[in-house]
Amino acid sequence: MTMPIYLDYAATTPVDARVAEAMAGCLTMEGIFANPASRSHFYGWQAEEQVELARRHVATLLNCDAREVVWTSGATESNNLALKGLFEGSGYKGHIITSVIEHKAVIDPVLWLEQQGVEVTWLTPGSDGLISVDQVQAAMREDTRLVSLMHVNNEIGVINPIAEIGKLCRQKDVLFHVDAAQSAGKMSVDVETLQVDLMSLSGHKFYGPKGAGALYVKRSIQHQLKPIIHGGGHERGMRSGTLATHQLVGMGIAAQIAKDDFEQEALKTAALRDRLWQGIADLPGVFRNGSGVVTPGHLNVCFSGVDGETLLLSLRELAVSSGSACTSASLDPSYVLKAIGLSDEDALSSIRISLGRFTTTEDIEQAIAHIRTIYTELKQAV
Ligand SMILES: *Cc1c(COP(=O)(O)O)cnc(C)c1O
Repeated sequence: MTMPIYLDYAATTPVDARVAEAMAGCLTMEGIFANPASRSHFYGWQAEEQVELARRHVATLLNCDAREVVWTSGATESNNLALKGLFEGSGYKGHIITSVIEHKAVIDPVLWLEQQGVEVTWLTPGSDGLISVDQVQAAMREDTRLVSLMHVNNEIGVINPIAEIGKLCRQKDVLFHVDAAQSAGKMSVDVETLQVDLMSLSGHKFYGPKGAGALYVKRSIQHQLKPIIHGGGHERGMRSGTLATHQLVGMGIAAQIAKDDFEQEALKTAALRDRLWQGIADLPGVFRNGSGVVTPGHLNVCFSGVDGETLLLSLRELAVSSGSACTSASLDPSYVLKAIGLSDEDALSSIRISLGRFTTTEDIEQAIAHIRTIYTELKQAV
């Protein structure tokens, strides 16, 4: 069997070969396998040195101090730490502003905080999928403690005006958390420019390993963050647990590669994505979801009039996703697409195609031809 073309980079990316090589050097007796917290021998010092080098690579990507990078197991944990960690300190008092199209890894912890007594304003985006500065400003209250918004939406790829919202939050003395799992490694995530206090990253979204992530915590607010995992007091007391040397070394190399290459890569990926859209846009009843500024790798398309599950199953030559990866196990229409105004039917007829580092021109030409054939067949069948 020939393998389908992988066009689901927004769900996860393969590990870059350079990352895999570095990771393989951190596993066996001959490698840098030790516990970075072992202070009494050379093996431990070596591991600590490599993990700290990786931390500096992530800090360079974020333009922050290495002491502001807290290792986690991924963006889900980073979001949980940011949200629960801050509000535990306040006895679950105060107000959060977030949006209804956040990833479940923000929505679910915020719902949990709401049960503990935190008050929440859930903003709804416009049909472009964006949250505006004006919306955030209008929702601000005396007791607003935190704004939590995603940088790039995982389903439709739209880019929120983070720098402007960051500026507003600074003026109002409100903390700002950004889930940057979809943007890090693909566009600038400079925490100074964006004026962010907390930022979540996921290694496997930018060619690092799954199970590795980080939370940027601005130095001046670290004392406000309570840990959600208690143990040996690792990570300046914010996140206990033996550091996974191989995972973190891998994420560090991935960050270093991304920092060097993301601008060029973005141009290449956007050109392929635009070619793909150009190749299918004339099909009757086909439209693109989420207007405005979109990340280079995303293309969310509604094939109205055909059932999305049938389409997905028929597109045998492509590995793509319906809605978001996390909801693709169920047949509910995507809550993101519904929030930007799609009917249940159109939401169910939409698929997310996402491109990345290893996507080629041939992949895209083959994808266009395949989509055209299948869509025309399915349209004739109805
Ligand atoms: C993938 C993703 C997450 C979850 O990241 P994990 O590292 O898999 O836990 C959170 N938020 C967004 C926007 C994502 O795309």
